[in-house]
Amino acid sequence: MVPYFARVPNTTLPSRLAGLRALAGNLSWSWNREARALFAAIDDRLWHRVRHNPIDFLNQVDPARLEACATDPVFRAQYDEAMHWLQAESSNAQTWFATHHPELAGRTIAYFCAEFGLHNSVPIYSGGLGVLAGDHCKTASDLGLPFVGVGILYRNGYFDQKVAPDGWQQDSADALTLARTPITPIVLPDGAPCIVTVKLDGHDTFVRAWQLMVGRVPVILLDTDLPENRPEARELLSRLYSGGVEMRLRQEWLLGVGGVRVLRKLGIAPHVWHANEGHASFMYIERAREYIAGGMTFAEAVKAVRRESVFTTHTPVPAGHDVFARERVEAVAGPVWLDMGIDADTFASIGFHPEHGPSAFHMTACAVRMSSRVTGVSKLHAEVTREMLRPMWPNRPANSVPVGHVTNGVHLATWMANPIMKLLDRHLGNGWGFQLDDPAVWDRILTLPDDELWAAHRELKDVLFDVMKVQARRSFAQQEMTAAQIVGAGLLLDRHTLTIGFARRFATYKRADLLFHDPERLMRILGDADRPVQLIFAGKAHPADTPGKTVLQKVYQATRDPRFEGRVAFLEDYDMHIAHLLVQGVDLWMNVPRVPLEASGTSGMKAALNGVPQLSTIDGWWAEGYDGTNGWAVTGGGSADTVREDAEQAARIYELLEKEIVPRYYDRPSRTAEPKAWLATMKHAIRVAGRIFTAQRMVMEYTKAYYVPAMAGGDLPDDPPTA
Ligand SMILES: *Cc1c(COP(=O)(O)O)cnc(C)c1O
Repeated sequence: MVPYFARVPNTTLPSRLAGLRALAGNLSWSWNREARALFAAIDDRLWHRVRHNPIDFLNQVDPARLEACATDPVFRAQYDEAMHWLQAESSNAQTWFATHHPELAGRTIAYFCAEFGLHNSVPIYSGGLGVLAGDHCKTASDLGLPFVGVGILYRNGYFDQKVAPDGWQQDSADALTLARTPITPIVLPDGAPCIVTVKLDGHDTFVRAWQLMVGRVPVILLDTDLPENRPEARELLSRLYSGGVEMRLRQEWLLGVGGVRVLRKLGIAPHVWHANEGHASFMYIERAREYIAGGMTFAEAVKAVRRESVFTTHTPVPAGHDVFARERVEAVAGPVWLDMGIDADTFASIGFHPEHGPSAFHMTACAVRMSSRVTGVSKLHAEVTREMLRPMWPNRPANSVPVGHVTNGVHLATWMANPIMKLLDRHLGNGWGFQLDDPAVWDRILTLPDDELWAAHRELKDVLFDVMKVQARRSFAQQEMTAAQIVGAGLLLDRHTLTIGFARRFATYKRADLLFHDPERLMRILGDADRPVQLIFAGKAHPADTPGKTVLQKVYQATRDPRFEGRVAFLEDYDMHIAHLLVQGVDLWMNVPRVPLEASGTSGMKAALNGVPQLSTIDGWWAEGYDGTNGWAVTGGGSADTVREDAEQAARIYELLEKEIVPRYYDRPSRTAEPKAWLATMKHAIRVAGRIFTAQRMVMEYTKAYYVPAMAGGDLPDDPPTA
């Protein structure tokens, strides 16, 4: 038997405050302001020091302090309110879904994804895809969707980033300590752990299920680190993306097949199956196998699977689509085709992509064959995807390839900072959080008082700068950094200076170094005596992405280039915590991917919700979001001559900075006065993001256009691929 992990926290709680345990055990505290305030009220400094991990917090808090809180009437009232909310959270009864679709009560939507970015204290995500999946689950909880997530418990997380003095990224394992997370083992009614078997490489492999509660939504996480498994199988689910293609293929097989089997073991019978990105495509195959075992032919099974399946593809970058050698898939999954009553060729044809030939198994092609509802993550991305998938429908023009879109959005309560929320409370009335889909609410943003919005923004900028300075001083004191590196860590940054943030994965198409195209011109912009500008960069390169690491190195070296006079900083170890600080605390968000390779982009939406306008190429969401009032657009893109295009777009960025952005930011009577024109741009940024780019809008669209029709059964919306 597998030993269970002791439930945290170890600290004995006063009985009056026993509910803190339940609060810490469900990630819903992270997007509830009262719950967050409650932890901070107990011990603000400790709360900050544990980086908002409530389990670490309860383990370390001074018991005497808890006793004092237990008898403090003000704290008790605050506590009771949080408990009341937690109670209401435990039922779906009054939610949007329950009231709009009572006829669908009891039906379930299963959502498979290779990573979930829910909170910094649960490091099982690498970046945008995971954070999007996390925001989707939180919103499904808010709306009361009968939703269950299925993913992988990476015990070694993604990786921690340190940058060496020469700018080369060092990757170190970021091990997850289960006892410091709210992840708990799933136990069956008879007390046994929930374990299923999956045939992998010809061996039975045991997969255990864990649970992470995200409000009303359970996220099931799979794990193979069991003594019953072969030693090599125990490691298979430990690392996220960094294990190479063989590990990746096995992870995906375990996720798809193991995920379905765990749901069955738990008695969950979903009516809708949503694979978020092609990593989860094997889920469709396992379901086809089930139908065949139940008596259907292969063709009938494919049709049945298609009827209840949704697939979202997330990137036009070819490297983002897994393509495995057919023989490798057969070695890992075989001979599953025998269970499906088909031969190996028919099995391989499920992953056939005309451009990759019969010896490749293409995970996106598999998903597209097995799902009748395929979506991209922005309007532009869907167009690009139709073009990419067109070889699968050779008789159709690109515009009738059946790919729709649901543009991404971000979870407002996760990403909008407290000072901004309080401002909206004061001016929009307390109920605004329940009327996110009412455009009139967002139009009223334009009436916010300038001085209050500016004060809220200044407060958030101070938080960012304080954190950067504390970190730089600490590293210096620990002699981890030389004086020269300290400059690059932001010690010289000035709070009154226009500050541009750029934080994202260092994939080359995101062009983090575009701004350094003409260093002389950039130097003049940054170093202007009256109207200076400074830059903060953050982001990780994928451990195997050497070109990405080279771009990172180039940017990092700029932080120490004396020509830039300490006006360029790099913040290490970009994660959700750093992302919060940056999207809330800089003045302008910069995003300059090579068009059309950024499928959506979401960090700019997070920034905009905090009144931070965006300067971006017209790609992903910005092609829908930019309206001339809420930021700036770098035109152009799509040219085959990328060298010339980079030069042209860099020049456009400099020009926008010189002629529009910098003048607008500094257009005010004194250095400390409010910039009226800039504030107008800030308000429009919030207005547009709140109105269109929240995850609430996104999940409602998925529900109306895809989940409800699939749940209700009925005809297939479109034909399967013909090639
Ligand atoms: C939002 C987010 C991302 C995605 O940002 P993009 O704009 O899509 O590049 C990546 N990583 C973290 C930690 C995030 O919070």
